[in-house]
Amino acid sequence: MKNFFDQTATDLNDQLVEAGFQKFVAKQLLDWVYKKHEFNMDNWQNVSKKCREFIRENYSFTLPEVIFHIQSVDGTRKFLVKFEDGETVETVVIPARNRLTQCISSQVGCAIGCTFCHTGTMGLKRHLRAGEVTGQFFAVTLWLKENVHPDERLTNIVFMGQGEPLHNYKNVKAATENFLDQNIFGLGQRKVTLSTSGLVPKIKMLHDFPPVNIAISLHAAHNDTRTELMPINKNYDLERLFDAIKTIPLKAHRRITYEYLLIAGVNDKKSDVDALAKLLNRSESKINLIPFNEYPDSNYKRPSNKQILWFMDQMCQKGFTCTIRATKGEDILAACGQLKSEYEKLNLWDNSVEIRKKEVPQTEAPLS
Ligand code: SAH
Ligand code: SF4
Repeated sequence: MKNFFDQTATDLNDQLVEAGFQKFVAKQLLDWVYKKHEFNMDNWQNVSKKCREFIRENYSFTLPEVIFHIQSVDGTRKFLVKFEDGETVETVVIPARNRLTQCISSQVGCAIGCTFCHTGTMGLKRHLRAGEVTGQFFAVTLWLKENVHPDERLTNIVFMGQGEPLHNYKNVKAATENFLDQNIFGLGQRKVTLSTSGLVPKIKMLHDFPPVNIAISLHAAHNDTRTELMPINKNYDLERLFDAIKTIPLKAHRRITYEYLLIAGVNDKKSDVDALAKLLNRSESKINLIPFNEYPDSNYKRPSNKQILWFMDQMCQKGFTCTIRATKGEDILAACGQLKSEYEKLNLWDNSVEIRKKEVPQTEAPLS
């Protein structure tokens, strides 16, 4: 039996046509499920009985289940969702201006093993299926509709939860197609951001990927520092990484965002500013500084706010577009610490959202 949510519109159409149904039927089914949220097939009035039977016999409609939810005073919400096999991942919803961004996971755990990352310490448990990736979005959409407001809508998606999305290329590609498909979730290309640690062979395949925003987790502009932070740099060092980045069709992807984790004493000095400025192209890059988010037993420290602002100012002075990701939902981190003892696989770090320079109040401690 197939899971309905794993199918792209093309998959579903092909399967239905092969079973002898007409071409328009797939769109009708997608409409009932994704637009009308009607899961009771008896109510699919314009679908023939024969077709409903075919669907009933061949597809399951299991979505991830929201098993825990917690909200911060700033509106950030964390959800723990459980899949059919009992594995769980965390997904976070972050309100900012007129956006409601969901940070989703692509794998349970992660194989890349970055030394600063809580998920990295878990190793890879398994890839998520396409329907488990979009299912985080759909399950939370239904949850918000029921528990917050019937018109509450998620507007943006970032692949910045657990996992390396390009390691799970095929399923993440199918999920992204469904996020963008007008007959499914219908999000704009600019509303979806894929973040990668730099899996070079898969970056070279991005010309074949829906043209969403691309963020590269750079974190260091010197090979030795990057290797210390991200073991993937041993195989795919900065030179190979930037050779691969050159193959990304920029017209479609516009500027590339470079995420740069700021860690006290590791990559936050003048020599790092200079190396970063040398490495990146001003007109084709945006830099997003991420203050290191400490978690229990983490090996690294977050720099002082003064140091973080200094680093950003330096990059701005050198002509780069540079933002800092502000910490959000800090009050629910503590609660998630408690949650973690109950749900061991919970990922703690992603409680953040991007802010622009002009919004950083210089007189207060803006980043904590
Ligand atoms: N695996 C992908 C996407 C998920 S991680 C990637 O690495 O890009 C999303 C972002 O969160 C990455 O930039 C990652 O480096 C960052 N991150 C991981 N651990 C963090 C921590 N403790 N504090 C702040 N950011 C962290
Ligand atoms: Fe994996 Fe990204 Fe964490 Fe590195 S930072 S271990 S690639 S999830």
